[in-house]
Amino acid sequence: MPKVTVDRDGCKGCEHCTAVCPQRILAMSKEINAKGYFFARVTDRPRCIGCRLCAIACPDVAIRVECHGVAYRFFDY
Ligand code: SF4
Ligand code: SF4
Repeated sequence: MPKVTVDRDGCKGCEHCTAVCPQRILAMSKEINAKGYFFARVTDRPRCIGCRLCAIACPDVAIRVECHGVAYRFFDY
């Protein structure tokens, strides 16, 4: 099963990941992080298909996706 991890304090609450997830399993927390933002969280991990779109969409590289023994974090500077 793919494992998606959101770096709680690295998130700036832009909601890009929640918009791109085809399974709609990312949502914004009702808590705030150290920066004062509502951060993204995974709501239904078993339904994740490991597409990595959330990690690609995150502008702050705050999402890590692990599947088939490989860890993915994407950035393009
Ligand atoms: S890897 Fe794909 S299905 Fe899984 S949380 Fe990210 S966008 Fe959604
Ligand atoms: S795309 Fe990244 S910074 Fe934006 S809400 Fe999702 S995890 Fe947070």
